[in-house]
Amino acid sequence: MIEESTSHYRILEKLGAGGMGEVYKAEDSRLKRFVALKFLPEELARGAQALERFEREAQAASGLNHPNICTIYDIGEHQGRHFIVMECLEGETMKDAIASGRLGTGHTLDLCIQIADALDAAHQKGIVHRDIKPANIFVTSRGQAKILDFGLAKLTAAAGPDGPGATLPSPAGEGAATIGLTANDLTSPGAT
Ligand code: ATP
Ligand code: MG
Repeated sequence: MIEESTSHYRILEKLGAGGMGEVYKAEDSRLKRFVALKFLPEELARGAQALERFEREAQAASGLNHPNICTIYDIGEHQGRHFIVMECLEGETMKDAIASGRLGTGHTLDLCIQIADALDAAHQKGIVHRDIKPANIFVTSRGQAKILDFGLAKLTAAAGPDGPGATLPSPAGEGAATIGLTANDLTSPGAT
């Protein structure tokens, strides 16, 4: 994928890989900034359920605007492979930070407060992350926590600001974002 271009993104290097695909650093040639592209694995892209999960991750996370949640910019498709465009973070995952032994008690508490505030903001919008773990929390080089992967996010109508049964506003502000999904539909074999 290195040096390939898709839309106005030029892929530069691989940042990592996880259960839901590969993450690459890319340059946005329009806005002249770095972004991170998360590609769904090719074999998964053929499954309607995985595609739906991928799009749900983008929709759920893009509806959230919080300094401690990784910002989603866009979604796209390149040679049949779907990707999410998000802010490119510098630093390391909390998993790596813990393993390195460099995280002191004060900084850890500070990160936990940031994470709790981000989750509170998400919960107020009726969005539950469902996969909070050190590998899904990024610690930026400025010491800020950023939650990644709202991939398993479960949108709950009951938790909306308008009370039980209220529909969630879509990112564009019109209609409901969670049509016909039940909790049972949201988990697939092998997933949490
Ligand atoms: P899972 O699929 O279970 O969430 P994971 O969290 O290990 O697994 P990914 O979320 O795909 O995998 O991320 C893989 C790696 O890519 C991360 O560990 C992180 O190092 C890197 N990464 C992910 N998002 C970004 C980003 N926005 N900016 C910089 N690096 C990132
Ligand atoms: Mg992850």
